[in-house]
Amino acid sequence: MTPIADRAFPEAVIFDFDGVILDSARMKTNAYLDLYELRDPEMQARLRRIVWQNGGLSRVKMLPILERELFGRATGEDGIMELARRYADIVDRRVNDCPLIAGAESLLDQLSGTPCHLVSGTPQETLLGTVRAKGLEHRFVSVTGSPSVKAEVFAAIVAAGSFEAARTLAVGDSLTELDAAQKSGITFVGVVPLDEPNPFPADVPTVNDLFGLAQRL
Ligand SMILES: [Mg+2]
Repeated sequence: MTPIADRAFPEAVIFDFDGVILDSARMKTNAYLDLYELRDPEMQARLRRIVWQNGGLSRVKMLPILERELFGRATGEDGIMELARRYADIVDRRVNDCPLIAGAESLLDQLSGTPCHLVSGTPQETLLGTVRAKGLEHRFVSVTGSPSVKAEVFAAIVAAGSFEAARTLAVGDSLTELDAAQKSGITFVGVVPLDEPNPFPADVPTVNDLFGLAQRL
């Protein structure tokens, strides 16, 4: 399809939250280490790798993967819910202390007038609480957490706004958001901090922070 020259880019932006708007991704990985009280460096490295490979998943989807891949356990729903409750006790207290990603406020200022949506793997009510605590609620047209599935939410945002998918921009720090964007043909930019490994294929454009993204728009 030939882009319509007089339509702006981006027509809309879909942001992930942890690691994209809020500098909370490392804290949330460390919280899994605390949850399991892992002291063995080899186990710590394995956990970090599993969380990194499955970045962007909700806690109730991440925990069965950790149970299986770290400990070889097929933990039932009750066990996962108890782990999720303990995980929430750790992260939901710490998350409000996390700073915004560098450049977040100036990018959102720059995008004022462009519909911005927030889509996260964090439980809906918890996400809304954090967004309000950070004074960000007026920045987003919609805020969607789990149990909604990112790919479905991305598609619904494009459909509801009658946006051209290629002129819609999704910004994420993990493969979950890249997959969700690609399923709808949405343009994607990854956020990869300078001191973290890049999880994305080589042809995916990335920025180190949101100052970097502001320069590209
Ligand atoms: Mg993230």
